[in-house]
Amino acid sequence: MVKIKKVSDKMITINKNMQSEILMTTMEEIVPEDSLFRKIDKYIDFTFIYDEVKDLYCENNGRPSIDPVVLFKLVKNKNYFVITTNVDGQFLKAGFNHNKVFEVQGSLSKIQCAVGCHNKLYDDLKMVRNMLKENNNCTIPTKLVPICPVCKGKMEVNLRKDAFFVEDDNWHKLNHNYEQFVNENKDKKLILIELGVGFNTPSIIRFPFERMVLEYKDTTLIRVNNKYSDLAFEIEDKTILINDDCNSFIKKIL
Ligand SMILES: [Zn+2]
Repeated sequence: MVKIKKVSDKMITINKNMQSEILMTTMEEIVPEDSLFRKIDKYIDFTFIYDEVKDLYCENNGRPSIDPVVLFKLVKNKNYFVITTNVDGQFLKAGFNHNKVFEVQGSLSKIQCAVGCHNKLYDDLKMVRNMLKENNNCTIPTKLVPICPVCKGKMEVNLRKDAFFVEDDNWHKLNHNYEQFVNENKDKKLILIELGVGFNTPSIIRFPFERMVLEYKDTTLIRVNNKYSDLAFEIEDKTILINDDCNSFIKKIL
């Protein structure tokens, strides 16, 4: 069961109905028989994604992921964009288009000069694998410690934790893509699905989403949050609050 917080009488009725529809409706019923999407599904075997992403998941520990193929299919026919403050690269691992995922706060898969002496990021997957291979009682050979190729100083993971965070050309390109997506769709029916955004960095997603809902006529916010599911009264009529854990919520609707 998805627990939904009451924001108005009208809202609670709609959501109660929606719950049962979500549980009982299948894609077979929703998508017309002659739909192009049915043909795509028939002729393209998406299981290739498992091979593509298998190296990015751990085989024997960690939290079980949502099936990457299911996540990919969720958006494959839709005009979407992802903005995230997560730095674990899960959206990209799941097969999302790299031009449509803006990781605002950096990524654990990249390293940079620790003092940002130049504006470039480096993939660290190979480096980390080598470190794990040579790991001996939590120590690694000195030769494996990365050194900045420009200033010869230390390197750091590309996370926004101090004034030296590097925003490279790709970061600026994705920032532009995000702004362009919003501008192109703000006058259409736009759904903002906010998954688990609290008050650590609310100025990146939470507050701008609330502003968009207030300003754009046909925009609706779906806020999924089991901790901070409160809302400004000005936008309560255009918002659906779902008081649930994100992982559990997504599993229920798919
Ligand atoms: Zn440097």
